[in-house]
Amino acid sequence: MKFKQQLKGLQAYKPGRTMDEVKKQFGLQEVIKLASNENPYGSSPKVREALTNASLDFALYPDGYASSLREAVAAHLSVKPEQLIFGNGSDEVILLVTRALLSPEVNSVGADITFSQYAHNARIEGSPYIAVPLKEDGSHDLDAMLDQVTEETAVVWICNPNNPTGTLTPSKEIYTFLQKVPNDVLIVLDEAYYEYVSSEDYEESLSWIQEFPNLLILRTFSKAYGLAAFRVGYGVGSEEVVQQLEPTREPFNNTSISQVAAQVALADQQFIQQTVEQNEKGKQQYIEFCNEHKLRYYPTETNFILIDIEQDSDEAFHYLMSKGYIIRSGKSLGLPGTIRITIGTKEQNEGLLRELSHLVSKEKV
Ligand SMILES: *Cc1c(COP(=O)(O)O)cnc(C)c1O
Repeated sequence: MKFKQQLKGLQAYKPGRTMDEVKKQFGLQEVIKLASNENPYGSSPKVREALTNASLDFALYPDGYASSLREAVAAHLSVKPEQLIFGNGSDEVILLVTRALLSPEVNSVGADITFSQYAHNARIEGSPYIAVPLKEDGSHDLDAMLDQVTEETAVVWICNPNNPTGTLTPSKEIYTFLQKVPNDVLIVLDEAYYEYVSSEDYEESLSWIQEFPNLLILRTFSKAYGLAAFRVGYGVGSEEVVQQLEPTREPFNNTSISQVAAQVALADQQFIQQTVEQNEKGKQQYIEFCNEHKLRYYPTETNFILIDIEQDSDEAFHYLMSKGYIIRSGKSLGLPGTIRITIGTKEQNEGLLRELSHLVSKEKV
């Protein structure tokens, strides 16, 4: 058949093994998943309450414009409702961007290593992805990225903080970059971990949209809001950019139930604050552990941490899985020798670090 050439050899996203599979394989009572940067505290209790009481008519299509959620997000961010585009997760907004802008004739520029969906979706459009190595500390090398921007460049991807390193690229550097990039290049600033950032090097990027109509900021309800199951993410940009992207969106890409869930979760900022505070404490558990065991780690502004364990990361992954902890092996992320761990609850972190200490101490004797 006549499938696109570029699909040759392209792999489907491999979800990790399910918790049930791991339980069965290793005969475990409990398995803890710290692999996908989900919120270990769940989501606002108000969401479950609202969904239990919601009187949804299952036979009707959802509001295709997500009007009520749109109004709420616009008010929360102090932007116009027309500046928002909602996706089935921010993953879908990434897809919409590639669909609207990328083709074999143009390229996009992004970091190496970063969130894999930018390059994956670019490839499906047959569009070259120019990968620019990260700096030593795991932040974006924006000078080197700027050097790669040419007439052919349609999109630049910046993941801030970056997944999988967790590192923040300082706002000042991004602002300077925005000033230098031609204004017909769309800059996608993926802020999936926005809520977790506490660094003083972070300025509110939303304030740049007016000056840079070619900026699209991505945020999601999947991480700090704890609603990954519902698939709600969005882009914020100039009305001009949003208007151009809108026709590429499916008419009913967010379900009725997910629109309710996201809106209720947004209203409970106390939950977000608690999540972020607890995450800070959890982060300290990992930093102390790394210092104690003299392990290098990347400075994180997220709810995960990338640790250099100086040994085969696939083996470490299997060992930890056999003990009931699912994490991400750096090898699968392109950073062999490291592991990426989602920061869990205090008890989850203690349990995982106990197992990890066997591994890193054993290696050093
Ligand atoms: C998790 C993640 C996303 C995707 O989030 P969804 O809204 O669930 O699709 C996007 N970008 C980055 C960097 C992420 O880590």
